[in-house]
Amino acid sequence: MRYAVLSDVHGNLEALRAVLADAADRSDAVFCLGDVVGYGADPAACVDLVGERCQEVVGGNHEHAVAGRLELDWFNPYARAAAEWTRERLDADARAWLGALPLVREVEDATLVHASPAGPDEWDYLVSAEDGFAAFSAFGTRVCFVGHSHIPRVWSSGSWGRDWEPHPQEIAVEAGCRYIVNVGSVGQPRDRDPRAAYALWDTERRRIAVRRILYDVGAARAKIVAAGLPRFLADRLGDGR
Ligand code: ZN
Repeated sequence: MRYAVLSDVHGNLEALRAVLADAADRSDAVFCLGDVVGYGADPAACVDLVGERCQEVVGGNHEHAVAGRLELDWFNPYARAAAEWTRERLDADARAWLGALPLVREVEDATLVHASPAGPDEWDYLVSAEDGFAAFSAFGTRVCFVGHSHIPRVWSSGSWGRDWEPHPQEIAVEAGCRYIVNVGSVGQPRDRDPRAAYALWDTERRRIAVRRILYDVGAARAKIVAAGLPRFLADRLGDGR
């Protein structure tokens, strides 16, 4: 099977459409790791499209925020303004769907979780080498896919020890080795590359690739400005920060 694994869409419909178009011929199923909404100008359309196209979806902190399951004090001012704006633009069905998403799913030999398998509702970020190494004991599958930091990463753990790849492109899934893959962000990349990110996992070829996809950043930015959301949320898309 070939799986597309995407995360942190954040209401960016232009980026989501570009990623789903790229994944269409390359994958048999699509998984989403949460934060479908928040920051971007098209939360309702993104919820609909993810609901239609993704076979498995787990919830992120922004889902919990709009569903009223997470205090907005937890957020920085930009995230908070976006969460309040987003909450008003989703109908009761969409909010209920987001609020009911599980935080962890196991599919094939993979764990899907938004933030960290070690405490999925604590919203810790896996960024450094040590962050990832410490999380291997928290899941039992061969691979764990995460998002949340908006920065692609791969950590590996085998009998020979542990390693990580801070700028992953394509890795071979080796026998006797386990992996944590941060798939990056579709709608708000923060690794100074403004292109949308997602991962492809091919279980037969035993490969995991992080793909970067060009999309219409200008259109997504203009919509954020027109919606009256904080200007910083538009500007950061152009810089990938
Ligand atoms: Zn996010």
